Amino acid sequence: MIPVLPMADEPVLSQFGRWYQLNRISTVQDRMAALQAASTERVGPRTAIPTVALAAHMSEMDMLTYVRMHTMLPFMAFRTDRHALDNPGWSAGTISTRGHLTPRSGVWLCPSCVKEDQAFWGFSFWRRAHQLPGVFWCEKHSGESLRRVADKEPFLVSPWKCLVEGKTSAHTLPESVRDNASVVMFNSACQTMLDQGRIEGDSSAQKNLRARAISLGLHVRASANSYLLSDLVVRNFPREFLVQIMPALASKSAGKYFAAIDDALWDQFIGGHALGNAFAFATLYPSIDQALSELSLNGKSAKGRSPNSAAVRSAESIRLA
Ligand SMILES: [Zn+2]
Repeated sequence: MIPVLPMADEPVLSQFGRWYQLNRISTVQDRMAALQAASTERVGPRTAIPTVALAAHMSEMDMLTYVRMHTMLPFMAFRTDRHALDNPGWSAGTISTRGHLTPRSGVWLCPSCVKEDQAFWGFSFWRRAHQLPGVFWCEKHSGESLRRVADKEPFLVSPWKCLVEGKTSAHTLPESVRDNASVVMFNSACQTMLDQGRIEGDSSAQKNLRARAISLGLHVRASANSYLLSDLVVRNFPREFLVQIMPALASKSAGKYFAAIDDALWDQFIGGHALGNAFAFATLYPSIDQALSELSLNGKSAKGRSPNSAAVRSAESIRLA
């Protein structure tokens, strides 16, 4: 069996997809047999294959480095929970049950990235950056529109094949959404979360986030005439963008507590609220770097991206009605 090493920013299932293709493994049965043969652990017929552990082994990388570089967990489980603050890594259970998942529906590709990969490497691969919620344009290719594959197991098929066989579909968002300052900030927040990985925050982060919201005039609990974080998100973001990534939010009524967003100011168990955190960072601070700095969340591998100046200008002029 020929091993396959991961490409930069390639998610785990894409690496496995290329491994299957290279070794001409095409049926589900053959895939299971190949995984079991490659696994260092005993895998019974009813046991889930430890995909990420196996990929890390194949890549000759330690598990946490692999998780950080080739899974979506750094975004999806950006912060640890209060009871695991001392734990520097993700739990084995989370890695084995969620390590191969992506946080948006469908699988997304940039046609220009795919064509370049095919021309340069002779093969193509999927990218984590394109699987983040709210990413509809490629950052590398001057805002080229990403395309979506709704196929059941697209990671098993190369993006090149999906593209030439016409399996991709376009989104319908106008370019004004791409250039919207709040959307730019949100994209930056999600990418920074993915880049920085699981943060060992301290338990005061939530308190500080809440204090920030209150200082901007927001209410943090539902009450008569309350104006919540979720209300500000609805006001700042283009409706068609919210419809795409959180449809229920786009149609929520003013002042109604919306847990997926408003819990970001309260909930210590951040893993389930990655989107809420991204919205909070993008809405309450002028830049994602400032958000992480003020929340003391950028203790390690703090290599945030420089914020978009238009987004900074917009956020600096946050004014509440
Ligand atoms: Zn691209």
